[in-house]
Amino acid sequence: MKTITVLLASVAMMATVVLLAAGTSGCRPAANAGAEKEQSQGDNTIEAKVRKTDVEWRESLAPEQYRVLRECGTEPAFSGKYYDHHGTGVYACAGCGAELFRSTEKYDSGSGWPSFWDPAASDSVVEKKDNSHGMHRTEVVCARCGGHLGHVFPDGPKPTGLRYCINSAALAFQAGAVAPGEKRQETATFGAGCFWCTEAVYESLDGVTSVKVGYMGGATKNPTYKEICTGRTGHAEVAQLEFDPDTITFEELLDVFWKVHDPTSLNRQGADVGTQYRSAIFYHSEEQKAAVEKAIKALQNKYEKPIVTEVTPASTFYEAENYHQDYFANNPDAPYCRAVIVPKLKKLE
Ligand SMILES: [Zn+2]
Repeated sequence: MKTITVLLASVAMMATVVLLAAGTSGCRPAANAGAEKEQSQGDNTIEAKVRKTDVEWRESLAPEQYRVLRECGTEPAFSGKYYDHHGTGVYACAGCGAELFRSTEKYDSGSGWPSFWDPAASDSVVEKKDNSHGMHRTEVVCARCGGHLGHVFPDGPKPTGLRYCINSAALAFQAGAVAPGEKRQETATFGAGCFWCTEAVYESLDGVTSVKVGYMGGATKNPTYKEICTGRTGHAEVAQLEFDPDTITFEELLDVFWKVHDPTSLNRQGADVGTQYRSAIFYHSEEQKAAVEKAIKALQNKYEKPIVTEVTPASTFYEAENYHQDYFANNPDAPYCRAVIVPKLKKLE
């Protein structure tokens, strides 16, 4: 608390004092225009690089943004515009425009708030202890303007195990932008019949950094495999991949997609019958959509029947149960794999 004491003594006449003294919680954004004194990081004070007076913040932010960013407000769960948002790009600070998070680290936590397992860069955000409301939490603020963003919890996915639980109102999404100096990553989602096959095929490709199997395109929230198998949830079995577009292009992934299944077969691939096995591409950008449409146009002459592949924007990806992940790698001798997946992989060679 030394810093605060010194600060209180030395800038006794400034607005900062009022704010610090009034703040009973641990959550205090640095609304400190005129406070030129350096504040050290940690212990609930940060050095804000963008400083505005309270009046300036009120003028530049929408009321809900002001409430969250400057008054440490929390938007109701499932109410913000980004908790179910799936674009490719950067989530910038709604207060100052700093790049805070990226779509490549966003995941669906089911909490009703946008969730990320890592910030865009290690110095994008600052973490502070927050003991307000009788809880011991770690608050996350924008490193540039000190605006309150949300909290970080230790129950996130690998590789960090962290869940940055952020208010939509604190964020402004910028499609297509990627943080400089970072490796480019794109997401693609394909439904080509049984997802064990689709996963096995894409996992074998250079430039594909991760493949997860799951469900997309239906109405049921958090569906189980059992529900999917009824064909009534509306979801398709899909493989969602992260890939490095500098190594393998989306067009090349599409070439593989057409090869490993029959895009003219409606709701059926071989012995697998049902809408969950439909041919589907869930695009993550307008560029992907255009590439798919172009490919279908070019390919149609090669087929006698019309291509029935469903082309729709990506929606929530529900990761399938653990035993479905890496199914072929873990069960290479299972009858299904030998009969269906091995020939598909051979076809690609
Ligand atoms: Zn900011």
